[in-house]
Amino acid sequence: MNKLRIIPLGGGPGTVTSNMWLYEYGTDALVVDCGIGFPEDKVSDDILLPDISYLTTKRLQLHGVILTHGHDDHYAALPHLLPQLGSPPIFGSRLTAALAQDKLEEFKLKPKVQVLKETDQIKLGPFTIDPIHITHSVPDAYHYLITTPVGRIYHGSDFKFDLTPLDHWPPNFSKIVALSRPGVLCLLADCLRSERSGMTPSETTLTPALKRELNHWGGRLIFTTMSSQIHRIQQAIDVALGFGRRICFIGRSMERTSQIARSLGILSYPQKALVKPREIKRFKDFQLCLIISGSQGQEASSLTRYAAQKHKIIKPKSTDKIIYSTDIIPGNEQAVFKVIDQLVRLGASVVYQETTDDLHVSGHASATEQQLLMELVNPQYLYPIGGSFRHMYRFKEISKQLGFKAQQCILPDFGQVVEFDDSGKSRLAEILPLKLPRINQNL
Ligand SMILES: [Zn+2]
Repeated sequence: MNKLRIIPLGGGPGTVTSNMWLYEYGTDALVVDCGIGFPEDKVSDDILLPDISYLTTKRLQLHGVILTHGHDDHYAALPHLLPQLGSPPIFGSRLTAALAQDKLEEFKLKPKVQVLKETDQIKLGPFTIDPIHITHSVPDAYHYLITTPVGRIYHGSDFKFDLTPLDHWPPNFSKIVALSRPGVLCLLADCLRSERSGMTPSETTLTPALKRELNHWGGRLIFTTMSSQIHRIQQAIDVALGFGRRICFIGRSMERTSQIARSLGILSYPQKALVKPREIKRFKDFQLCLIISGSQGQEASSLTRYAAQKHKIIKPKSTDKIIYSTDIIPGNEQAVFKVIDQLVRLGASVVYQETTDDLHVSGHASATEQQLLMELVNPQYLYPIGGSFRHMYRFKEISKQLGFKAQQCILPDFGQVVEFDDSGKSRLAEILPLKLPRINQNL
């Protein structure tokens, strides 16, 4: 009898980025996510790719790739790996599909990414897939209930339970419960913030802090965050417009993402509020809010070049205020602080995590939200994903508080295969010798 094997091609257990999960049943395969990773020695803009050699050498029939959400570590490896994967159909929510499509076009690749509505159900080989709307730090994110011949798997990638999201579209709790009622074999769940008790604050709690930073500021406002933080950007836009400022997107990722999100109605502002980068000299400093890429100190980003006085259009001024509405991804500290050092030496005012802690909230569920998901899904097995080993161990501890038994929580090693037989028993199988290819994304 065939077994269901869940295989982390991007490393999986113990790692946060380069997410790519292979579901293998006999010779059939399904892939969830196809993201890039970031090397620990952040000396350049190098990225890591998942290692797909297991999938390609075993010649599995890949029926499709389903994407959970529009973060680079969940979809941006597509253009690098798709040519070796054959031409599987690719699916994602409206926003995720549009971002993935844009990424493929950037690399001159033709495949169409198909939009999966939340009400859709698709069948890919022996796998039946139901998307569930969830909240995270990028809008339009999905969890997936994957029905396989040996049981139902809840693939709970990055999420938080934001009860007051900016778009008034909270997680679909009733669908989580309805799909889980027949019994779920295993819940894979985002464990990144299992060390934090309680609930992660809602994204909408940031607006008052943004208003405070803008109030009485007479110079330019320069706002930076991840370009996928569309609700964060919307709040910055709303606050800036409220103070009579115009907005200007600077940097490729910021310009592209805002354009895509606006075309889908996920980001909104009046056309007359938008200033093109080349037009900013026509406006006074107090009339401008620049929304710029480079919050993680990326070498080639607009913010890094602006701070180094190498940007073609904007030069730093002592009256500029730069707001970092983000946390710094571990490993990026040196690059980000170098940019901040350059800016403060030029006399600019910089507001960032270390000086002001109310300008960012996490997109990940804290312990109470993780426990709520465990309760709603009530699976036979739990499998913490998307975190380091300490987060996985903490996730196990908090599951025990709900009455789950220690043996119900699966804690695989880096690259380890988890198997389920047709009686629904789980087993830790072999460890794949994964070697994640490293490439420079600017080449
Ligand atoms: Zn994410």
